[in-house]
This record gives sequence, structure tokens and C-alpha cells, in this order.
Amino acid sequence: MQRARTYADVNAVVGGYLRDLAFAQSSQQKMFGYKRAADAILSLDTPLTDLLGPDGALPRIPGIGPGSMRVIREILETGASPTVEQAVERSERRTDIQRRRELRRHFLSRAEVRRVLTDSSFDGPTVEQYCGDLQMHSEWSDGAPTVEEIADACVERGYQYAAVTDHSYGLRIAGGMSMAEAAAQRLAIDSVNARYGGRFRLLQGIEANIDAAGYLDLTDDEATTFDIVLAAPHSKLRKNDDQTDRMLTALQHKAVRILAHPRGRISGSRAGVIANWDVVFESAAQRGVAIEIDGDPARQDLDFTLGRQVLEFDCVFALDSDAHTTGQLSYAETALAHARLAAIPIDRIVNCWPLERLLAWLSDPSSECSR
Ligand SMILES: [Zn+2]
Repeated sequence: MQRARTYADVNAVVGGYLRDLAFAQSSQQKMFGYKRAADAILSLDTPLTDLLGPDGALPRIPGIGPGSMRVIREILETGASPTVEQAVERSERRTDIQRRRELRRHFLSRAEVRRVLTDSSFDGPTVEQYCGDLQMHSEWSDGAPTVEEIADACVERGYQYAAVTDHSYGLRIAGGMSMAEAAAQRLAIDSVNARYGGRFRLLQGIEANIDAAGYLDLTDDEATTFDIVLAAPHSKLRKNDDQTDRMLTALQHKAVRILAHPRGRISGSRAGVIANWDVVFESAAQRGVAIEIDGDPARQDLDFTLGRQVLEFDCVFALDSDAHTTGQLSYAETALAHARLAAIPIDRIVNCWPLERLLAWLSDPSSECSR
């Protein structure tokens, strides 16, 4: 069942080297240039090896200057970049760059995501089996779109349902919604649902913040006003101490249905929460709480390696985009790719259930508890 990956994610390798090179720069301007180049490669739809012409030449790639192009050629020819290694050696930030390298493990490039989605040798969910996305942000917190724009974009992607999950009031930094704003948002969502007349259902969710002790920034009464409650950590994400108790406390809140971006890691920046995940997953399985694979390219949290571990506890999963624009709804595909690499059966993925089963689980999570 566990398939070793025998294929190098060349764009992820190149993107990583370009980020190393960015941090080795003493000029801010050059640093930003190489960071932009790394982002351009990581978000390409096609692996660089497929872009090579018969003469071995690469086409022009938007956002890639001559310095980055030299690095790319080195990597395609030799698998490594002596240019970057030398720049890192000479740099005063060598130790920091080594640390950042460790924090890029198990991240997929966009090209690799697309490859995994179309590779029929994987057993996990397909794009066609994905019925709706359960984490995204609107103008009511730190997202850009209106709830109407979100619904239209989700319908265009073929979804049967979706949940708008703005931040709750405890996370002021992300424009968290007051309960009065949440009541007004509910009216806007009701009118979207009236417009679609049963062809599509928009749920009102909330991304509650898990505080340092594991408590949520919502009372029980407040939580019951939402169709779905996600709980996610946004603080203490750079600590080395064990936070198993914090995560277990969050799972005890009876309204929580999804543990969202469980670690809070960010590619090349921070590892996020450190915990005994076996204990956390076992508790989630007993309570019927879904463990999320967050598809934001910088998060990819959980990734496929921990996804396989969750599977052993017979948890349910949520695969979400964490989109803040309608364009970012495609991030759900990153989550789907990790689920395929972890061979998660569609029966265990809440986003692959018909609306009736999803709603039944939301009203009684024990209906999907592990045996
Ligand atoms: Zn979040």
C-alpha cells in the first residue's frame, strides 16, 4: 500500500536551491529576485525536464533571470548546483540556510501535484471524486472574495457544496469576525443558497483559533451558530516543547469537526507544533474529528507521510484549499495529491461524501467514529 516515490520532483529541487540562493544574498533586491524565481518554478504546471527542447535549451520562463537560469541548467545537468553551494558556503547565513532546508521536506511543486493527480497507479481520491472544499476565507476576514464570488467559483469547479470558514474574533491579526458580523454573513450566505435553489450548498463555517492552552476563541453557544467549526493553531509554532496536551484539549471541544493545518508549519520557515501525533490522531478518531490536509502550497499540512500515519488510526480526513482568493481554490488539488500519495480511501475523506452524509457527520461526528 505504501508506495515509495521513485521520481524526483525536479521543480521542488530547483525551487529549493533558488530559495537557498535568495537567503545567501546580501542585497535585499537580489534576495527578492531569487525568491520570486523560486516561486515561479514551484508554481509551474510542467516539470522543467519536460520543457527542455531537443537541443537541450530551455524556453524563456516568466520571472526567471539569467542568474536563476544558470542554476537551473546546472541542476538539470548534474542534479546539484555548485553555484548555490558556493554562495551558501560564503554566506554569513549558512546555518540559517541549513535550517531552512530541513523545513522543506515533503513539499510538492505544482507540477508534481499535477503529475500525481493524473498518475493512475495511485489509489487515493481523484479530482472528479472531490465534492466540495471545507476551508476558505472571504472578505469577512482576511480573504478577498465575497461569499457570492466564492459560491460561483465553487460551482464552476463542479463542487456540490463548500464551507466559507472565516477566522473567529480571537484572531484579530487575520481580521477575525465578531459574532455580529457572523450573523450578517449568515444572511449573505442564506441569499446565495436561495439563488442556487438546492443545486449547490454553501455552509457557514468558522476557523476557530486554538490558544496556547488548547482552548478555542468561541463559547459553546457561539460555536453552535455555525454549520461547521474548524480548530487551528496560529501561535506557539516555533517552540521546541511538546504540545500534545494543547492539541488534545482542542479536540475535546464538542463543536470541533476539523483539526485544520494541524502543525501550522510553513515551508522553509517553521516546523510548527511538535506533538505526539499518534496520541492526537487516536483521540481525533475516537471523536470523529477530521484531520485536515491543508493544500496551501506553503503549508501542505499534514503531508503524505503523516497522512499514512493518520490512516492507521482510521481517522476521517478533510482535504481543503485554505483559499484566500477564488484562484487559490485550486490549492485543494495539492491536498488531493498528498491524499493520493498516502493512498487514503475516498470513504475516509469527508469532501468526497454526498451532502447528506456530510451533514449527518456534522450533526453527529460519532456516526463516523473509528470502531
Ligand atoms: Zn489558519
